[in-house]
Amino acid sequence: MDSTDHKKFLIGNYASPALEIIRGEGARLWDSQEKEFLDFTSGIAVTNIGHCHPHWTEKISKQAEMIVHCSNLFSIPEQVRLAQRLVSEIGAGKMLFCNSGAEANEGLIKFARLASETPDFQGKNKILAAENAFHGRTMGALSATASPKYRKGFEPLLDGFEFAPLNDLEAWDRKLDDQTIAVLIESIQGEGGIHEAKDDFLQGLEKLCREKNALLMIDEVQSGIGRTGDFLAFQQSGISPDAVALAKGLGGGFPIGAFWISEQWTGVFKPGSHGTTFGGSPLACAAAHAVLDVIENEGLIAAAREKGHVLGTGLSRLVQSFPEILEGVRGRGLMLALALKEDPSEVIGSMRENGLLVVAAAGNVIRFLPPLNVDDDAIEKALKITEDALVSFQTKHKE
Ligand SMILES: *Cc1c(COP(=O)(O)O)cnc(C)c1O
Repeated sequence: MDSTDHKKFLIGNYASPALEIIRGEGARLWDSQEKEFLDFTSGIAVTNIGHCHPHWTEKISKQAEMIVHCSNLFSIPEQVRLAQRLVSEIGAGKMLFCNSGAEANEGLIKFARLASETPDFQGKNKILAAENAFHGRTMGALSATASPKYRKGFEPLLDGFEFAPLNDLEAWDRKLDDQTIAVLIESIQGEGGIHEAKDDFLQGLEKLCREKNALLMIDEVQSGIGRTGDFLAFQQSGISPDAVALAKGLGGGFPIGAFWISEQWTGVFKPGSHGTTFGGSPLACAAAHAVLDVIENEGLIAAAREKGHVLGTGLSRLVQSFPEILEGVRGRGLMLALALKEDPSEVIGSMRENGLLVVAAAGNVIRFLPPLNVDDDAIEKALKITEDALVSFQTKHKE
């Protein structure tokens, strides 16, 4: 395979990839030239326990010998047990499984629409979401995503969505009116460039939702599953949402999404009101169980905090050293970002040349999303490669 074949047979919805990846282990990847890379993308916050963790691989292999797929017309014990484990992490409520982040948010949007038919909400139908957020690529999730760069070419989208700026509670207060059924928000914006919803903003938003009888729905697709040093990022603020969307890290690389609905509202879904062929298959659930096992057994939520502190401190040091290029460090746990004053693609390119993979985000941002079990040596090496890339960028452009 070469890049010509990639172009010839794949629809060009991604820019031509720089690497062909063959194999992964822990925080490392190898390309088709057997060149080794440190993976600080984790497949965009997906492989939170690293690539091919032995426990995860074993669980998947064993499950593949038992049963891989079974319709949701039948009860799937792995799925029931997974729901039980997730409910014990999130709070009293119930789960519905699907296959991706967009689909999980799609589920929340359908939840809000269904709820609007109940006497509690009497036909309210507006959903309020944050500017600069990202909720996925399906038409529903896209309707909740304000940024023109994602929406362009796909309008008209769904009716009934409005947007307000993150962390500006007064703006949300003005927009949240008697027609608003729900609020949908990421606790930390990922694609938007690692912007945290502040704790007091989330608390204020919860209060507004209660006062104005609207549902509070949180998108934890990127920030969830231990990434920020809590099981879910919103948990630090102490709020109690009505619904939560999960995906990315949940299966450790095997596709699975899910949404949680608080106990009070689980009756909104009735037999026939939603469904999925693949969602919550025995194999997907086995993968998610393995992820939760490893997070528990290896203390990876605490590790995300500790390693996040090490990496964050190192990145802050770089901000001190390169004030002309760097703006600052943002994020929590191992969901961190280095904000540049200009387009980061050249810096990201030279980091890649020197064996470190990172991912860009909106607003000239480089995201650092290593696996939660990344070791200190890998962090030191990543910081050194980042520093070298900044030195060569500086030499080239600033002197
Ligand atoms: C990635 C992402 C999605 C979409 O997930 P897909 O699995 O790509 O559909 C939704 N919300 C957030 C916050 C994300 O980061």
